[in-house]
Amino acid sequence: MERIYNFSAGPAVLPREVLEQARDELVDWHGCGMSVMEMSHRGKEYMGIQAEAESDLRELMGIPSNYKVLFLQGGASSQFAMVPMNLFRGKTSADYLNTGVWSKKAIKEAKKYGAVNVVASSEDRDYTYAPTQESWRLDSDAAYVHFTPNETIGGVEIFWTPETGDVPLVADMSSTILSRPMDVSKYGLIYAGAQKNIGPAGLTLVIVRDDLIGQTVPGTPTMFDYQIHGDNDSMYNTPPTYGIYMAGLVFKLLKARGGLSAMHRQNLAKANLLYDTMDASDFYHTPVARENRSLMNVPFTLKDAALDEDFLKGAKARGLMQLKGHRSVGGMRASIYNAMPVEGVQALVDYMLEFELARG
Ligand SMILES: *Cc1c(COP(=O)(O)O)cnc(C)c1O
Repeated sequence: MERIYNFSAGPAVLPREVLEQARDELVDWHGCGMSVMEMSHRGKEYMGIQAEAESDLRELMGIPSNYKVLFLQGGASSQFAMVPMNLFRGKTSADYLNTGVWSKKAIKEAKKYGAVNVVASSEDRDYTYAPTQESWRLDSDAAYVHFTPNETIGGVEIFWTPETGDVPLVADMSSTILSRPMDVSKYGLIYAGAQKNIGPAGLTLVIVRDDLIGQTVPGTPTMFDYQIHGDNDSMYNTPPTYGIYMAGLVFKLLKARGGLSAMHRQNLAKANLLYDTMDASDFYHTPVARENRSLMNVPFTLKDAALDEDFLKGAKARGLMQLKGHRSVGGMRASIYNAMPVEGVQALVDYMLEFELARG
């Protein structure tokens, strides 16, 4: 059976090689007579799988040794609460940048634990850009500074690392992690749901500097305490074992493909195919400011929204799926994560040109 090109924002496309390897190992992993899904998380085989996934991720991202890598559950949405619960550390307020839907959700949740100072917002222009650092009003007494380097719905990405002095920088990297190299040492904490650029849904990754943990707000549930998970190598309770195994296969593949610099080059090439097509056309339009055009999520509109349905129908007929924009934005959105092959983006561009010629 031929695979479609899946432009879904998440859960998203996974590398074919990884799916095929998982299939080959599904029933009998490496001759041990059982599936990874059936293994005790405290057994030698599974512990090896998880340790290897962690060390491959550390190598890929260059994670310093004073950072914990935690394999959790609950999605990035749980981190909206876990971050303030763990990082307020006796302070009374935290700084947040507001660049769209996901920032707003993080802000709303943090307000349950203390004051939130919104350092800057792009709401004035419908979240189509990211405020530059000069306009941020940082509070030097803030517990941490939180931002969303890639707003998955708006398609707004920040390609620079904010300077926050001694105040820890926290990033929701759900839809940008592993897409390009990042200097982990500039961050206090990075978190990401796996279902965009890492692996299947159900796994949530947290990378946290170890001096920031262990001072939770009173009443924090045990399962929401980073220190508990860190002290137990993410095995305080049963971790999402199969998701971690799949993520580990993805990490190995990215290493074999040349690591994050190589991914960055490919992602730039893929995104430019789409943005160049739009720039050369007055039929397609992307609302996002040029310097914030996401490499991972590309929203765009057609000149006449009445053509949207026909566009999607024609796309589907060519195996180009999940291009409908988020219900809050409308139009189209092509998510082109690491696992989207360049051929998929080329097929989309070819279709866009054909559709414009016929209907524009
Ligand atoms: C998808 C996404 C989330 C929500 O992730 P869940 O795992 O569904 O909780 C949060 N932030 C960003 C930037 C996302 O892309």
